Amino acid sequence: MPDSAAAFPPIEPVLSLIAAREDELVALTQDLIRIPTINPPGDGYQACAELIGERLRKRGFEASYLRAEGAPGDSDRYPRINLVARRESGRPGPCVHFNGHMDVVEPGAGWTVDPFGGLLKDAKVYGRGACDMKGGLAASIIAVEALLDSGIELPGTLEISGTADEESGGYGGVAWLAERGFFSPPRVDHVIIPEPLNVDRVCIGHRGVWWAEIETRGRIAHGSMPFLGDSAIRHMSAVLETFEHDLLPALGLRRSAMPVAPDGARTSSLNINSLHGGQGEGFEGLPAPLVADSCRMVIDRRFLIEESLDAVKSEVVGLLDDLVRERPGFNYTLRELFAVAPTMADRDGAVAMATAEAISRVLGRPAQFICSPGTYDQKHVDRIGKLKDCIAYGPGVLDLAHQPDEWVGVDDMVAAAKVMALSAAALLTRGR
Ligand SMILES: [Zn+2]
Repeated sequence: MPDSAAAFPPIEPVLSLIAAREDELVALTQDLIRIPTINPPGDGYQACAELIGERLRKRGFEASYLRAEGAPGDSDRYPRINLVARRESGRPGPCVHFNGHMDVVEPGAGWTVDPFGGLLKDAKVYGRGACDMKGGLAASIIAVEALLDSGIELPGTLEISGTADEESGGYGGVAWLAERGFFSPPRVDHVIIPEPLNVDRVCIGHRGVWWAEIETRGRIAHGSMPFLGDSAIRHMSAVLETFEHDLLPALGLRRSAMPVAPDGARTSSLNINSLHGGQGEGFEGLPAPLVADSCRMVIDRRFLIEESLDAVKSEVVGLLDDLVRERPGFNYTLRELFAVAPTMADRDGAVAMATAEAISRVLGRPAQFICSPGTYDQKHVDRIGKLKDCIAYGPGVLDLAHQPDEWVGVDDMVAAAKVMALSAAALLTRGR
């Protein structure tokens, strides 16, 4: 049993400071929501980074603005600006880092409130990014400020980063910074990412992803005489059939020991992300009669820590190669788009234990340990930064992320800020 329980410094002043700053927490969340950092294309990063950085600078942080030059999507029109703010106490000790992504997805249709208005109603703050994850980012800032203002003597270093492009893979954000040592020991020891995973849950990792595009080929001909051509769409239907009969049932039987939540995501899965064959879409008028000579499908395969990426790929390739042998005229190409290995931190690790302990103190109920169905920036901290002691913990309901009328509860934000402050205090005082 780690000594985290014993290591909590006197924390009452911090908790009451945070409770007294509820309005400030709401205002900061609203200010962040009102900067529409939509990605793609990656708008407003500079303004958002400066809002956080200049605020923390007044609290003694050194704020660095780092443009991820050369990252996908980075341009003078849409610079990928990242903020890293660091405050050293002057006494030796570990570094606790809070990392929040600044980008949000596009609002989409179906909103009944202004997605960038930051409306406060019935103890909820509404807006695109409210739960994913400007509410969490604001909670971590208020947590750290309260720790500093409480007068508790804490050794070590606190860091807060606001990063770009999480929604598009994190290559212009955490990955870019991790490649430059910003997420590696000895600079950083413990990382908390305030993604919206519910206020009483500690998220220790996520499943893996493999995206690929499969293309089947045919031969173009007049649509009135399809026997003179060879339909790439019919070839693709054979692929879909083998996925239905041979692949999906097998995936559904593979269940992970990872505590993935919701439970439905605890097995392996495959989504057909898109499918297109024949003439292009998006034109007015009637099509010409043609046999399709190309059909393309993008698959999104989510896999478990018990599976290897190589096995995931060769399973799909094996089914396609069977079709090459069995089906006259069948041929295909496969293009890999994206792959991320599953990742899982040690649930007995320092940051997971400290956060779980803080949850039970603040909420009066035990923390739940989970893994996320989808990936987030922990993958880069783990793979590139080689730092295992990283979790996601933050306010907000994951199901609301990317939805219309997204919101975050004020009570949840306050509770999460308390948990984050307590967890950071415990990690700093326990030493390296
Ligand atoms: Zn997020």
